[in-house]
Amino acid sequence: MKALVLHKKGDLRLDEVEKPSPNENEVLLRVKAAGICGSDIDRVIHGGVYSFPLIPGHEFAGQVEQVGAGVDPNLVGKRAAVFPLIPCKKCPSCEIGQYAQCEDYDYIGSRRNGAFAEYVVAPAANLVLAPNDNITYEELAMCEPAGIAMHAVRLANIDIGDTIAIFGAGPIGLLLAMIAKNTRGCKVLLVDVDSKKVDFAKSIGFADAINSLETDPIEWISEQTDGIMADVSFEGAGVSKSVENCLLATRKFGKVIGVGIPHKDITVSMQAYQVLLRRQLSLIGTWNSLFSSLPKNEWKLTANLIANGTIDVSPLVSHRVSLSVGIAPIEMMAKREEFFNKIMYMP
Ligand SMILES: [Zn+2]
Ligand SMILES: [Zn+2]
Repeated sequence: MKALVLHKKGDLRLDEVEKPSPNENEVLLRVKAAGICGSDIDRVIHGGVYSFPLIPGHEFAGQVEQVGAGVDPNLVGKRAAVFPLIPCKKCPSCEIGQYAQCEDYDYIGSRRNGAFAEYVVAPAANLVLAPNDNITYEELAMCEPAGIAMHAVRLANIDIGDTIAIFGAGPIGLLLAMIAKNTRGCKVLLVDVDSKKVDFAKSIGFADAINSLETDPIEWISEQTDGIMADVSFEGAGVSKSVENCLLATRKFGKVIGVGIPHKDITVSMQAYQVLLRRQLSLIGTWNSLFSSLPKNEWKLTANLIANGTIDVSPLVSHRVSLSVGIAPIEMMAKREEFFNKIMYMP
């Protein structure tokens, strides 16, 4: 089969490799769509993986082609998204179904071969079957970033009609916006430093979006909320300025939700930290998504919302490319050479 193999840092090549076969409790999927995550930039360009060679790709969907021993043969032909984290099912976190906190997990696309390939193997337990025929493979592949956004929205415990501020209008920020608006009736205020992202947010129905390099976001949020400030602020950029803005943008007794992963130290001003104290804010961290049945499998929930039209994630797919273009789209993302949202390999 054809696959994009990462041989060493910065060296991702289209190779002919052996098609994998499913072991016990696994399935073989024909990959139909595989999104490039921001984290793949670090993985591919900077070699941030556990071993070489590796096929990256963890945001994907495909059709089950073959099942291993112990797997229901009726799964063959089914369309599915895949939760890429493979939990150990032995540690204390796994005991309570908090797989994202597993202490000894495997991961499709970073610790074991992923989906930038024609085929990929995954545990049958990690499949999220397409809820109906309407949902496309691209949309199923969006369940990974959308599941992360869903998790953040659920942890924020947003009330109906809350005003939320989102700092960072990339794919996760926009998915957060869609889920909060369409499931909780939120007023969404979006802030980014990239005018193209702001314009794109407006084009998909988020009129209240600004470039914080041009408009003071705190003054703007104050105006938008009659001086009360946002009920909940989401930090989606993972940078100090954005964390600072989140604190200042949040109302008394409000919540600040951390979603963006930082790559440098985060520092905030004394004034912002005092706001955290004086306004008695709650600062809540979020990580990945919930994949156990109780209280709710956030992947299945997300797939259902997409399939029944509650949220429309398809406009977020900005580029569709074949495996033959190789590393090019990942380099483009790293250099921010052109506007992009979610870029998908369509093997
Ligand atoms: Zn991802
Ligand atoms: Zn575990």
